Amino acid sequence: MRILFVVVLSAFSLAAADYKAGIGRIIITPEKPIYMSGYAGRDHPSEGALHDLWAKALAVEDRHGTRVVIVSTDLIGLPRSISDIVAARVQKEYGIDHAHLVLNSSHTHTGPLIRHNLEILFELGPEESQVVTDYAATLTDNLVAVVGAALKDLAPANLSFGNGRATFAINRRQNTPKGVIIGENPPGPTDPDVPVLKITAPDGKLRAVLFGYACHNTTLTGQFYKLSGDYAGFAQIAIEKANPGATSMFFMLCGADQNPNPRSTLELAEQHGAALAAEVNRVMGEKLVRVRGPLRAAFQVVELGFAPQSREGFEARLAESNVYRVRHAKAMLRLYDDGNPIRRYSYPVQAIQFGKDLTLVALGGEVVVDYDLRIKREFGAKRIIVAGYSNDVMSYIPSLRVLKEGGYEADESMIYYGLPGPYDEEVEDLIMTTVHQVMKRVGRPAVQ
Ligand SMILES: [Zn+2]
Repeated sequence: MRILFVVVLSAFSLAAADYKAGIGRIIITPEKPIYMSGYAGRDHPSEGALHDLWAKALAVEDRHGTRVVIVSTDLIGLPRSISDIVAARVQKEYGIDHAHLVLNSSHTHTGPLIRHNLEILFELGPEESQVVTDYAATLTDNLVAVVGAALKDLAPANLSFGNGRATFAINRRQNTPKGVIIGENPPGPTDPDVPVLKITAPDGKLRAVLFGYACHNTTLTGQFYKLSGDYAGFAQIAIEKANPGATSMFFMLCGADQNPNPRSTLELAEQHGAALAAEVNRVMGEKLVRVRGPLRAAFQVVELGFAPQSREGFEARLAESNVYRVRHAKAMLRLYDDGNPIRRYSYPVQAIQFGKDLTLVALGGEVVVDYDLRIKREFGAKRIIVAGYSNDVMSYIPSLRVLKEGGYEADESMIYYGLPGPYDEEVEDLIMTTVHQVMKRVGRPAVQ
């Protein structure tokens, strides 16, 4: 009688759960001093850490056994040279293809330099360079391992979704008589949405929360030499402190042209983190939309082209005084010498659909907020998370408007990313066409 009761009870709790979910987390704080990425001015390696950097994974399995794994990292940006290897190993070891795996980078500017990401920023000596190479190898192993840990942790769970708001992001593309500079543009577009995906055990206990915001993790500026996750790192710590035993994961949305405001002190990074954490906790206490139903995923690449460049153009730059432009020109000329100049870039676009209740759009690169706002116009602003910085952070991704206006996100940043120059004017059309294709494949209808 007693045994029967236990069996009935466990069958009941399984039936009460819409999904299985599992969470993995691994510390990815570099063990040795390492060059920090994001600002060109730094002249020596890191000096310890304010707090640990994390890779965290959320695995979700639907009732048909379809699995997706969503990974967050406190890193400036994962290049495809790392994420493609991770995806291939995840497929081999766990049978999950890249369509069902998302790797997001928080874009912290107090994180380590990542091999093949923004490498034009620094010319490192052999020892410093070896530290970066070794870190990339360890990171690759850790990212595979954190996916495995999440899959191992799969247990009945329910998902729910809501939206909050934060207002410390400001559009940073300031118009001046000399053109667009990185400054403050209060009337410029922003997206205050803070999407919150809550993962609970069948008894209602919080297991994990995935939240996002469209804003650079640049509260801490180039004079900071301690590793941290910036405001997103502080927000995750504050949420986990308020919810013991739960894991919180930050997702970087389309915040390429957004900076925290104000910025440049440690107190402000903590303050922005606390504001975001308070909002996530508030939303989790509200009545949320239940998320249920089959998981569907689609991943496509689209070939982006560049405005014309020539060998002669790069040769002429060798005489310039800007060290980054010269370094970049040398790198481009090496590619011409190898007979392999960059003409196109394979850009990743991904969508994951949870039943009829929620869509996660994951775009590669540093995506400006125009894409996020346009996707919400074309597919509805509810029940959607539009992430940038996913799967491959290869460059900024300007909208046509931003491309035409020029400035850092359109043009100058391409130097640091080691790409030949600005994208051509098809960039937004090509990406949006691909977004519509993946949305169609996962069953998220357009509203206009
Ligand atoms: Zn950036």
